[in-house]
Amino acid sequence: MLDALRATLAGIVGAPWVSSDPVVLDTAGRDALKRGHRPDLVVTPGTTAEVAAIARACHDARVPMTVRGAGTGYTGGAVPIRGGLVIAMSRFNRILEVDAANLLAVVQPNVITRALHTAVEAQGLFYPPDPASLAECAIGGNVAECAGGPRAFKYGTTRRYVLALEAVLPTGEILRTGSRTVKNVTGYALTDLLVGSEGTLAIITEITLRLVPKPAARHTFAATYPTIDAAARAVGAIVAAGVIPATLELIDAASLDAVAAHLGRSMAPPGTAALLLAEVDGGEAAALEEARLAREACAATGATSLVEADTDEARAAVWEARRELSYALRRLAPRKINHDVVVPRGRVPELYGLIDGIRARHGLVIAAFGHAGDGNIHVNLMVDPANHDEMRRASAAERELFAGVVALDGAISGEHGIGYAKAQYLGLQLSAAEIALMARLKHAFDPHGVLNPGKMWETTPEDLRGLSGERAGD
Ligand SMILES: Cc1cc2nc3c(=O)[nH]c(=O)nc-3n(C[C@H](O)[C@H](O)[C@H](O)COP(=O)(O)OP(=O)(O)OC[C@H]3O[C@@H](n4cnc5c(N)ncnc54)[C@H](O)[C@@H]3O)c2cc1C
Repeated sequence: MLDALRATLAGIVGAPWVSSDPVVLDTAGRDALKRGHRPDLVVTPGTTAEVAAIARACHDARVPMTVRGAGTGYTGGAVPIRGGLVIAMSRFNRILEVDAANLLAVVQPNVITRALHTAVEAQGLFYPPDPASLAECAIGGNVAECAGGPRAFKYGTTRRYVLALEAVLPTGEILRTGSRTVKNVTGYALTDLLVGSEGTLAIITEITLRLVPKPAARHTFAATYPTIDAAARAVGAIVAAGVIPATLELIDAASLDAVAAHLGRSMAPPGTAALLLAEVDGGEAAALEEARLAREACAATGATSLVEADTDEARAAVWEARRELSYALRRLAPRKINHDVVVPRGRVPELYGLIDGIRARHGLVIAAFGHAGDGNIHVNLMVDPANHDEMRRASAAERELFAGVVALDGAISGEHGIGYAKAQYLGLQLSAAEIALMARLKHAFDPHGVLNPGKMWETTPEDLRGLSGERAGD
């Protein structure tokens, strides 16, 4: 069976692009969760026609296939948990067009996000979505997960920027959705359906993205607070002043302590419970005025310190705390279980109350930081995988966190998706009717269920038991 498939694939892409090298299989079997399942083969197509032929072959032979972008996903989306084929998109790595007049770019899916930023900014244009992984992740993966990032508060997530897609259905049909226009209400919004579909509905082979003009100016400052509530009041006051900052990040005391130990210097005065990191951008005069209003709002809500950073050097220093967070947290425990929950902005203090309760009840180290502007807070359970009791407590804490977030009118994932990692919690948020409708949609796209099987509502306990590696975050 495997030999027959290998021969078919070699006939489609050429033998050098089909691999069963154990190192290649190992890499293709994991993402940032570091827990995975090897595929049987990895195929690396170079054209949309090749992708279509591969899909048809898998469809006809009922072989599972899973698409892999850059493999930085946090929920196991690109992990082939039922084996079969991994379709590596690494050869689809070209920016095909930047159309400044129409403010759009056409790219292949495995263009690295930062490479797109650099290319369009050189022409005075701007692609706002900025996942923290932007130096490594690819646009196709961003589209499949509907990636967010600090700038989502003002600019929105990836979804807002996807105008059109070329995609291959699991049956091998090639589909073109959307158009090069910002307005288009012709038929069902298939482009929107594919954004965030986590590689379960179609294989994306080309993406047309909306761009905006690059903001002329930005102003950055950090404000510290003695309580999370005070920081949350500052967020409300900034918005009430009519300012939507490009980024508005909140870093809690546990995270600040870890950064201080990591950098060897404190980022905030003693007694700080929360640091707000704000950046406004826009035209010169407007950005200056917005920065003034936002700083005033912070001062009026009891900031204990307010540090402006208007040179590149100062800005880099202020962002250092945020950028170093992932590394700094590693000092707290060998493993980080990272959950990207989201609640309505005004309920962030209640979310922190929920986290405090979970921390106390389960005796866990938890660091929580994230995008205060849009209520998307990364809750990091810091654990030692060798400590089985701690892992059991983390599991109970996780369920409480997700149930609590749903009760706060939030969502169990704001940016990372469900994959297999959060599959068991899907029912906390979605009704049986919604899941059944999603299953019928999936069937319409993928009648034999061969594309990325075992994800979201399809994940079974056997799928999870079949995974190798420690249960962990990055
Ligand atoms: C340190 C770190 C920081 C991160 N920060 C953020 C953040 O700030 N915001 C955020 O949103 N995420 C973040 N992530 C998560 C991750 O980077 C994003 O989910 C990213 O969008 C994944 O892109 P990728 O190319 O690595 O996709 P992969 O991991 O390769 O795949 C992710 C999913 O997309 C599917 N897919 C990939 N390419 C295609 C395609 N061409 N067609 C169809 N499906 C496809 C896969 O099948 C899989 O289901 C972070 C991850 C790390 C490790």
